[in-house]
Amino acid sequence: MDHAEFRARAHQMADWIADYLETVGDRRVVSGARPGEIQGALAGGPPEQGEAFDRIFADFERVIVPGLTHWQHPGWFGYFASNSSPPSVLAEMLVAGLAVNGIAWQTSPAATELEQVALDWLRQLIGLPEGFHGVIQDTASTATLTAVLTARDAAWARAGRSPVLSCYASEEAHSSVFKAARLAGFMPEGIRRVPTDAAFAMRADALREMLTEDQARGWVPACVVATVGTTSSTALDPLRAIGTVARDAGAFFHVDAAYGGAAAVAPEHRAILDGVELADSFVVNPHKWLLTNFDCSAYYVRDPDLLMRSFAALPEYLKTAADSEVVNFRDWGIPLGRRFRALKLWFVLRSYGAEGLRALVREHVRLAALFAGWVDAAPEWQRMAPVPLGLVCFRHVPGGMTDGPELDAHNRRILEFMNASGEVFLTHTTLRGRFTLRLAVGQRTTEEHHVRRAWDLARSAVAEGVRGHSGLK
Ligand SMILES: *Cc1c(COP(=O)(O)O)cnc(C)c1O
Repeated sequence: MDHAEFRARAHQMADWIADYLETVGDRRVVSGARPGEIQGALAGGPPEQGEAFDRIFADFERVIVPGLTHWQHPGWFGYFASNSSPPSVLAEMLVAGLAVNGIAWQTSPAATELEQVALDWLRQLIGLPEGFHGVIQDTASTATLTAVLTARDAAWARAGRSPVLSCYASEEAHSSVFKAARLAGFMPEGIRRVPTDAAFAMRADALREMLTEDQARGWVPACVVATVGTTSSTALDPLRAIGTVARDAGAFFHVDAAYGGAAAVAPEHRAILDGVELADSFVVNPHKWLLTNFDCSAYYVRDPDLLMRSFAALPEYLKTAADSEVVNFRDWGIPLGRRFRALKLWFVLRSYGAEGLRALVREHVRLAALFAGWVDAAPEWQRMAPVPLGLVCFRHVPGGMTDGPELDAHNRRILEFMNASGEVFLTHTTLRGRFTLRLAVGQRTTEEHHVRRAWDLARSAVAEGVRGHSGLK
């Protein structure tokens, strides 16, 4: 493709994206593709001769697009949102065009320095104290793995390599925490799940008991992970109490605020980070609630030297004259090569400003509270957890039905009915073993009428005979 054709195609793609974003709400949220269908439509091997772009693009529209699930649909209530926004998309276009690699400062000084600036702006926006130094990781999973590896190395440095190291997170913590501990080489018995209270938040007293018990048998507590906004129910672990216990035990304290941390852009939600100054590291995902395209996970550490002790790698061929004066982010994480992710975050922070981001969070929290109010007011509907942020956990309990497989199946059918509409998409979880519907409000373009539609569909599911054993098509 020569430059003239590239220019024409780039204009065509920009129009296509703009049309898509304008009309995505008219599509069915979830693809109707059957397993293997897309592979089947693309069978054969790579072409011997290069093909015309028209042919490639025709197949993109014919085969690929119908196989997509539309995360930017305003009826998106599944998992947590994975937002984008027009300024973020524009930055991604520029980044693709530039195709720089931010291995080190010298490999693109602006990539490194903009990352420092954008992450410090984000730090200020969410009220993280000064003294936290940020680096962008691809995902919160990677950031947490980075934290757990740092914690492991610090524990080894302190206690030697023979004792059993232990790592603590609540039973409601994200699977990435337990995966990180496994990957970091923690023994299964040293990976501890701390019980939660009635609101699904970690019990600091239970953590202290576990730590005391484990220290008594000679184990070394390496790491405590608290969650601000758990994935199942957005429970808020009490950071100050947990951080105090972690510090008393000499453990590294990591805060996983992948989803919930974003809410702290609004001062009335700052209390969710009370005690965060006790943390050794902290992660929040701008790619969830803060309008920045996946992937962009902001990881903050209090002591970059501790981080670099685990991650610095300086073979001769990577040394540069600037090394003593600059930050080389390759030494702050696992991969060597690094995408220029700071540009989209900077475009977003400048385009929306603190006010724009606050307004977004406030509207989503308002809509979640509205939905929660409908659930609370409706006979036979039950809210399953507090709603501090943008997620409502709920279920339907028909008269006379008690906890068990029948009630779970009933609610699973409600979920299937709602999603089969193609207008909304919700996912589920279990809380204390009970099947629970999750309505996660967080997509940039979601409005009140979309939330209302979700509630209408939930009630229609019941009205149209999901009740009891009748089942649904
Ligand atoms: C979404 C989420 C994660 C995982 O985020 P990735 O960036 O996809 O790895 C981890 N922890 C919590 C609390 C989350 O909400």
